Amino acid sequence: MAHASVEPVPEDWNRGIVIVAHPDDIEYGCAAAVARWTAQGKDVRYVLATSGEAGIDGLPPAECGPIREAEEHRSAAAVGVHEVEFLGHPDGRLEYGLDLRRSLAGAIRRHRPELVVTMNHRETWAPGMRNSADHRAVGQAALDAVSDAANEWIFPDLPEPRWTGVRWAAVNVMIGYDHAVDVTDGVDAAVASLTEHARYLAALSDTPVSEQAAAQIAMATGPKDGFPATRAVGFELYAF
Ligand SMILES: [Zn+2]
Repeated sequence: MAHASVEPVPEDWNRGIVIVAHPDDIEYGCAAAVARWTAQGKDVRYVLATSGEAGIDGLPPAECGPIREAEEHRSAAAVGVHEVEFLGHPDGRLEYGLDLRRSLAGAIRRHRPELVVTMNHRETWAPGMRNSADHRAVGQAALDAVSDAANEWIFPDLPEPRWTGVRWAAVNVMIGYDHAVDVTDGVDAAVASLTEHARYLAALSDTPVSEQAAAQIAMATGPKDGFPATRAVGFELYAF
């Protein structure tokens, strides 16, 4: 507690959605927080802008997409998430703009969450670590779509009625967090969740998939300065 205080992410909510670009984006740390929330009885759902079909070298998109969707369903189930929606945008070619905002606003209206979780939309993860174009686009569009979903005049062509019930958005970040989730009890489920991306991880490295997953989750869930938990995941929190 010696540093600037890092507050806990609020937990007085019942339904949340996690909006990301690709299968596996949630599983590099954020899923540990999801495991905690579903263990509390919360309804958490995933919305993925793409099916990650451009994500595996040597595997054509038409074959890759279904494999990665199946992996994501298993990853979700490992942390208590049973509703996963794929929006079908093109992997690797997401563009920030009205089309993506409309699509994500529609998803927010369908799922009617109180908390929207999304991913880092900045240029970098950490100094020298470039963030991808898809991640930047989807993170920014998800934050904007919270307001779009609540306004009946911005996308009047959407069939779903507006949803004004989002109370917070939380952006999963490695640095610059002002809030955190104690994931000490969610780490094992998070490793199991990432391990389900077996084909994807096997294409990245010869290290056994379970070892890759354990190492990645250990890195993503370290203790956070100013937050009293053995293992934690950091977020920037926005209130609406
Ligand atoms: Zn990604």
